[in-house]
Amino acid sequence: MSRFVFPPKAVPAIPVQGRIELFPVHRIYCVGRNFADHAREMGAPVERGSPVFFTKPADAVLPSGGSQPYPSATSELHYEVELVVALGRDAAGVIAREDAPRHVFGHAVGLDLTRRDLQAAAKAKGLPWDVAKAFDRSAPISAIVPVEEAWPAADALLWLEVNGERRQQARLSDMIFSVADILHELSLRFELRAGDLVFMGTPAGVGALQHGDRWLAGLDGLAAFSGRIA
Ligand code: MN
Repeated sequence: MSRFVFPPKAVPAIPVQGRIELFPVHRIYCVGRNFADHAREMGAPVERGSPVFFTKPADAVLPSGGSQPYPSATSELHYEVELVVALGRDAAGVIAREDAPRHVFGHAVGLDLTRRDLQAAAKAKGLPWDVAKAFDRSAPISAIVPVEEAWPAADALLWLEVNGERRQQARLSDMIFSVADILHELSLRFELRAGDLVFMGTPAGVGALQHGDRWLAGLDGLAAFSGRIA
């Protein structure tokens, strides 16, 4: 007899480059305003201060992109290309910055899809961002590249094209908070676990996706993947 009153859902999982086994997703953390030029275009103050965090549910991942329907309840679906860090071990409390790389299983490229109209309305009223950020299939993600295969260069170029036109482009070295900074800061607030994903924030150039748009996202030297809004 099952312990459950109905069968639990399968664990969301992402392909891993060069491996048959999948990466099981535990939680998705996201960093806001981690590129000064994007903070500026959103009308937010550009300051180091404390990082801005929000989350998406684990099953918001859309592994390997592909075709997805235009989401409900919005008429302003925005792309945000981001570096994604995948954690491979449980943190024993606070992660020291110099200890952060030991927790990284691998990296991927992801989109932090956003209902920008709903986010703007929430911001105006000081309300939470969940309906703007944490919706179904709001996190398309490439296969994870394990650190044994490749480690992204400190100044690797992160980019996004829509219908063949370059829309976003920045170097990882332009991030306000590094991966080590972010893992340290997150670990002060949450118990980080193997299976956690961290979306590291997007550069300037965010914009709307329309029905039928094809996008291609990449991080040079690491990964590229594509998708389409059906
Ligand atoms: Mn973002």
